[in-house]
Amino acid sequence: MSVGSSYNQSVRILVQGIVQGVGFRPFVYRMAKQHHIKGTVCNTPAGVVIEAQGIRCASFINALRTNLPPRARIDSMSISDVPDSIQYDNFEILESFIGEGSVAIPLDCALCPACEAEMDDPLNRRYRYPFINCTDCGPRYTIIQIPPYDRVRTSMKHFTMCPECEAEYSDPNSRRYHAEPISCPQCGPKLKMIDNKANVIEGDPLDLAVKMLKEGKIIALKGLGGFHLMCDATSDAAVSELRRRKHRNAKPLAVMFRSLEDLETYTLISEDERNHIAGAIKPIVIVRAKQGTNISKYIAPTIDRLGVFLPYTPLHRLLFEHIDFPLVATSANVSDEPIIVRTDEIVSRLGNVVDAVLTHDRTIVNALDDSVVQIAQARVVMLRMGRGFAPRTFPLMKMLNESVLAVGAHQKSAIALGVKQNMVLSGHIGDLGSVEAEDYFDRTIQTFKRFYECEPTVIASDLHPNYSSTQYAVATKREHVTLQHHYAHILACMAEYTLNEKVLGFAFDGTGYGDDGTLWGGEVMIADTQGYTRIGFLKPFTLLGGDKAIKEPRRIALSLLFESYSLEEVLELNSPTTEAFLPHEIRTLHHMWLKKINAPLSSSMGRLFDAVASLGGFIQTLDYEGQGGMIMESFVDPSITEPFEFTLLNGVIDLSEMVKQIIVLTAKADVKRIIASRFIATVEAIMCRFANLHPELPIVIGGGVFQNHALMSRLYRGFDSNRFYAQQQTPINDGSIALGQLYYVIHNTKEKNER
Ligand code: ZN
Ligand code: ZN
Ligand code: FE
Repeated sequence: MSVGSSYNQSVRILVQGIVQGVGFRPFVYRMAKQHHIKGTVCNTPAGVVIEAQGIRCASFINALRTNLPPRARIDSMSISDVPDSIQYDNFEILESFIGEGSVAIPLDCALCPACEAEMDDPLNRRYRYPFINCTDCGPRYTIIQIPPYDRVRTSMKHFTMCPECEAEYSDPNSRRYHAEPISCPQCGPKLKMIDNKANVIEGDPLDLAVKMLKEGKIIALKGLGGFHLMCDATSDAAVSELRRRKHRNAKPLAVMFRSLEDLETYTLISEDERNHIAGAIKPIVIVRAKQGTNISKYIAPTIDRLGVFLPYTPLHRLLFEHIDFPLVATSANVSDEPIIVRTDEIVSRLGNVVDAVLTHDRTIVNALDDSVVQIAQARVVMLRMGRGFAPRTFPLMKMLNESVLAVGAHQKSAIALGVKQNMVLSGHIGDLGSVEAEDYFDRTIQTFKRFYECEPTVIASDLHPNYSSTQYAVATKREHVTLQHHYAHILACMAEYTLNEKVLGFAFDGTGYGDDGTLWGGEVMIADTQGYTRIGFLKPFTLLGGDKAIKEPRRIALSLLFESYSLEEVLELNSPTTEAFLPHEIRTLHHMWLKKINAPLSSSMGRLFDAVASLGGFIQTLDYEGQGGMIMESFVDPSITEPFEFTLLNGVIDLSEMVKQIIVLTAKADVKRIIASRFIATVEAIMCRFANLHPELPIVIGGGVFQNHALMSRLYRGFDSNRFYAQQQTPINDGSIALGQLYYVIHNTKEKNER
């Protein structure tokens, strides 16, 4: 392009770096006015996009580079000419849109620095105002009833703007120009404190909440996409009481810190982790915890990692004005059900868990959990997609001639919609199987149909006949496509990178329904968008006692021992697994194993992780899924790189040699560090073996096993980055199964039409 010329120009500028939530768009607006530039500026998932028209484009671009707001940073600027652009007659700040084309739903944003400064300023009319927001921050998706995004179609329609707010809203020079949720203490929502029976507690709601938290009480607090349960994270009494009331034994709880400085006294974080923690979205980031701090031992028992985040609403920030300790902030729900958004529901369903509720009268229309990410070798591994990231839109190369709904899996449910020229993946819904979850699942589908104005004619689901999502698909009586779970994992990654060629896929997962009706989860496949061939899998082992084995890894480990040793030998072994049983229990289970009584076969890598966790003496019975891998992770020493032995014969991955090697090791001494490290190295070695057999194919991974930080760090270090694809923008677990299902249907509808 040629920005130096003196005639009227139209350019599109994509700016990447720290440019969102730092007052960048208002800055662009001011610069545009100074340089007589017309056009628009808008946040997108790819960065800030500026459309600029005028004869001083070059000096405008130069001004953007040189006069940046203090907290902004430009990493890259790509500029392209737009010769047939429409003619603008002024310069406008557009809302933050996700995706392009006909559908555009803006995303929720954490409190921005400019609003933060205003709420700290005693002379500002929004001093200490819990609902301050602007075009760079505040609620979006969570308050929208129907697009387009205008105040009258949000839950803010119940609040009439006062003249001062109205003036800011209509002033193009104001940071709140068309900030739809704009309000102030005169005209906006109000806080309210109620007890667990819905009686209003008199007094200043914030003071009351602070006082109760200091007393070790448990409160529910209304956030952007739902309620949090909060208590003092340094109090063993408060945290163990929360666990007792919530019937949540050991599953880690997220912790919110007053400031980045506070957070760093409790954690060991990298530069990349810091950028994500303090960025414009403020997701929960799983990081390494420092040992010996005053954080309660009940927050994340037996693991050395901690889910941490910073205050992201003005209300959170006010709460921390008088609280100098970190707070547990976990989604308010019943076990793995969806997050609760209504005050009356908190009282009716969690009244026995909370002592009081700090709430307000701005309705949450669309529930959305906090996003959870971790960072491995500077790459994002998304564990839960929610606030700030969802719904996530991927533009398509072609226009779809019919709408497609993909209903995902069963756990970590999320749906995806193929509509017009977009694929849209929903945020985390929760585990299906309860009335509440299925109700939320259903509501999300209705919301998506309303938002994107479509009535899907094709429904894609998992192959598993008993998933309620599959049953939903059947009940619609629409054209129904079923897809094998692990193939869908690979397709989800391919969708994120728009891959359409043949790939070598590794789906390492908890469980999924296989084509042969057994439980899969350690699958190697050659796949493209048309289908897949399973070229490798873990040698199936038995889950002694079926579902019971999933909760008790010692049962899986025992079945692996039965594969390699006689019953008498097993009884003589000096192993943490056999020590976890009485001799007669081992005899009974051996009988079950021999006669194949309640002993389904599985090739799941997730279950193998659990079995190794038992064999290595890490854990024998689980409190939550994935616990075995998480405990082992804390023992991994990256300097130990020697894998265990395994054999590969006709694609069958046989790890019986590894089992024997672990038995020899454990008989000697406490060797957890060696076992955990060598096991992770073994998983990598298995992948390398296949990768070397197919050097021409890109490597694609997917499945819950890759949530393991130690494994992902190794893979990012070990594999050539030009060849290795792992999801970064969508969940690497079942949260993106719907995207994979959708990607398949989109690539196969054309042939269907030709048939
Ligand atoms: Zn703001
Ligand atoms: Zn007002
Ligand atoms: Fe899965």
